[in-house]
Amino acid sequence: MLPTGANLQKIHNGKKTYAITPHLPGGFIKPEVLEKYAQVARKYKGILKLTSAQRIMITGLNAEDIDNIWNELGMKPAIGFANCVRSVKICPGAAFCKRGKQDSIKLGLELDRRYIKKEMPSRMKIGVSGCLNSCSESVIKDVGVIGTDEGWDIYVGGSAGSHPRLADKLITGLNYDDALRIIDIIVRYYQKNADIERIGQFIERIGFEKFKNDVLAEFQNNVTCEMSAKPYSEGEEIIPKAGALTEGNLVFGDSIDEDSVIADIIRVYPQTIPVLRSFGMGCLGCPSATGEALKKAADIHGIDSNELVQALNKTRMEGEK
Ligand code: SF4
Repeated sequence: MLPTGANLQKIHNGKKTYAITPHLPGGFIKPEVLEKYAQVARKYKGILKLTSAQRIMITGLNAEDIDNIWNELGMKPAIGFANCVRSVKICPGAAFCKRGKQDSIKLGLELDRRYIKKEMPSRMKIGVSGCLNSCSESVIKDVGVIGTDEGWDIYVGGSAGSHPRLADKLITGLNYDDALRIIDIIVRYYQKNADIERIGQFIERIGFEKFKNDVLAEFQNNVTCEMSAKPYSEGEEIIPKAGALTEGNLVFGDSIDEDSVIADIIRVYPQTIPVLRSFGMGCLGCPSATGEALKKAADIHGIDSNELVQALNKTRMEGEK
């Protein structure tokens, strides 16, 4: 019997080995979780492999070790249907890329929370790219999203593999909420009307004009989202929070306190970067680190957070004069 949360990888000389591929939303991983990956791979003689879906596979494992490995990773086994949303691939977008037009991390993580592992008529892959360079390969995804100066463009029906197909452009220039809303309509329309077929095959069968007219009719009737985000399990919880790198609660003129998110501090008061560095925070390019609240990051570095807050506010106020 297949061990829980594992795939049969290979049968060599009658011996079976297995792989596990934990869910890593957006490919983000906390340093302490990454260390656990290394520990279990070393202990159970596994091999680590980066996948195209922004995950880390541990492969070459024995069946009897799989339960222990999930336990030691502190994660629930990654179980999904064969026909479900398999991946949401997210590029760095406006948070990390100078070419980014939109915050692909914010939208992508929200889509991940709503749809990952959700049952579908066939496999579904989603790609979210912050600009037309389309580093998440949005036009070969079942649902593809691309950011432009005008907002989000939505593509449907792309796929790679044995039946490659470029996606059709459905609508352009949507804001964040409308992008989520039309994807919700697309998903429900597909679930309701498709046979066991990818969206591209479904569109080929019924015709793109019909698909587009039906979906846009619902969109223009202001049909609201039915899907909301499910919470992540503890092992999947990620840093940064969606949107924390390009927007936040801190605005110019606010004081910095222990709860301020480092990414916000840097964004609003870039003059504080040398102060953070002088306190030993050399990890300011790291999304995991900059998504933290100041107090948590200070504790990790063994820094007195009160002292740090005072120094940051001093520099902040000098910059405002
Ligand atoms: S798609 Fe655009 S924003 Fe995203 S990583 Fe590529 S170049 Fe940067």
